[in-house]
Amino acid sequence: MNGPENTLSSQPSKKPQPEEFDLVILGGGTGSTVAAWTFAAEGKSVIVVDRKYIGGSCPNIACLPSKNVIHSAKVASYFRRSKEFGIKHDGFMVDMSGVRDHKRNMVTGLNQMYLENYKKTGAEFMLGTGRFVAPRTIEVTLPNGTTRQLRGENVIVSTGTRAALEAIPGLAEAQPLTHIEALELDKIPEHLLVMGGGYVGVELSQAMRRFGSKVTVIDRNERLMSREDKDVCEALGNLLADEDIEIVLNARIKRVSGKSGDLVSIVLDQDGTEKSITGSHLLVATGRTPNTQGLGLELAGVELNDRGYIKVNERLQTATPGVWAIGEVAGSPQFTHISVDDFRVVHANLTGGNRVTTGRQVPYCLFTDPELARIGLSEIEARAQGIPYRLFKMPMEANLRARTLAETRGFMKALVDADSDRILGFTAFGVGAGEIMGAVQIAMIAGVPYTALRDAILTHPTLVEGLISLFSSVAELHGVAEVPARSAA
Ligand SMILES: Cc1cc2nc3c(=O)[nH]c(=O)nc-3n(C[C@H](O)[C@H](O)[C@H](O)COP(=O)(O)OP(=O)(O)OC[C@H]3O[C@@H](n4cnc5c(N)ncnc54)[C@H](O)[C@@H]3O)c2cc1C
Repeated sequence: MNGPENTLSSQPSKKPQPEEFDLVILGGGTGSTVAAWTFAAEGKSVIVVDRKYIGGSCPNIACLPSKNVIHSAKVASYFRRSKEFGIKHDGFMVDMSGVRDHKRNMVTGLNQMYLENYKKTGAEFMLGTGRFVAPRTIEVTLPNGTTRQLRGENVIVSTGTRAALEAIPGLAEAQPLTHIEALELDKIPEHLLVMGGGYVGVELSQAMRRFGSKVTVIDRNERLMSREDKDVCEALGNLLADEDIEIVLNARIKRVSGKSGDLVSIVLDQDGTEKSITGSHLLVATGRTPNTQGLGLELAGVELNDRGYIKVNERLQTATPGVWAIGEVAGSPQFTHISVDDFRVVHANLTGGNRVTTGRQVPYCLFTDPELARIGLSEIEARAQGIPYRLFKMPMEANLRARTLAETRGFMKALVDADSDRILGFTAFGVGAGEIMGAVQIAMIAGVPYTALRDAILTHPTLVEGLISLFSSVAELHGVAEVPARSAA
């Protein structure tokens, strides 16, 4: 009985020696993934730890799956409109399990591509849940319960965010869907209640409506996407209303009862009047919460800011030397392209450069149909900053390519500096808005005046050709903001 094992276990246990890496990355989102491939290709030893997803949220549960499902909804909308294009058919049916499988196939393909890139570059991917046990040392619990300790000369934390669940009585008990479950539905909800009229709520509302669900969107603000200019919010609201989506604004949700997937009711206060809305499913899309708990950040000396995100400076350094944070958990704007730019900032700073997050462009696109895209200043922002501007605005129906597609809803507008010809901002709500915005953004990066776009020879008929008409239109001059009078009190 006194075998060698017993002899060993009776001795004081030795602390396991952490495995050493040039770079350890906790959380495998897009910025982390690109960081791993890049540093590994440059000859560094790199390991990425993720508890669930190869590639993080974007390819698995967020951007790409949602855009895939939204595209299936677009196909359904084409079936509904087919007569308009001279195509007759004998009815159609949406098969949600087919929609889901189509999305799952794409995700599987993306995961394979990511794994191949890990192999090619020599970066290691480890499935497991990580937490700091010391500065720059992470302990990972693998799915089989065993642990590994990893120490990095540098460590990047990028654990992202998750859907926030507000402390509303009955909400947690109602087991609402988040975007993750909504993108996995294999049946069309009879009546989907959507809490939150931001990006996620609006995109999924339109898609589900197009699949045949009755949809009600509930938002606490006066308008959907309330940070955008009034004309933009109104155009978006009209789009949803025209597709028979019920929109309930200025609403404070007081309590929730029942269960999502069965029968669920919301009691809300709208302008002082209590109302009750009942549906079959409930989707929460009211913002995000950073994934910081259980990470042992205190053992690493990594601090949080007053919003609960990891505190970083403009070079994305945390309070602990050698520990960096990128992406949503670092409080960066919540877009994949920003997560990737955060990687660039850290990469530059680790390779002798000095790159910062301040002053960078943050373009975005809302993938409704049609899309809403913006780069640079909105009118609200220009006024708030007291920047005079010339406004060029043109309806999408003046774009001849939009006419050929029978997609004439919306408009484009551009803000141009009142004194110079510099483009300050661009918004498009219309077909291909994201792609058109890209062309304007490149002009802004290059610092070319708006007249260069106006005078360019662009292929006819393309959507981007509309920029010639936009910048040839008569501009309105807008002066310095009317600063609201402050009360003396
Ligand atoms: C429905 C939806 C649609 C979106 N669409 C778009 C879009 O069209 N365009 C766009 O630019 N952005 C979009 N976004 C936002 C975008 O998905 C994120 O900004 C982007 O994925 C960057 O996230 P990240 O790198 O910060 O973190 P993530 O990609 O979320 O990565 C964090 C990772 O950390 C892992 N993790 C967390 N804790 C631990 C731990 N303790 N141990 C190990 N691993 C851990 C998680 O499993 C996760 O994989 C969308 C978001 C949602 C929710």
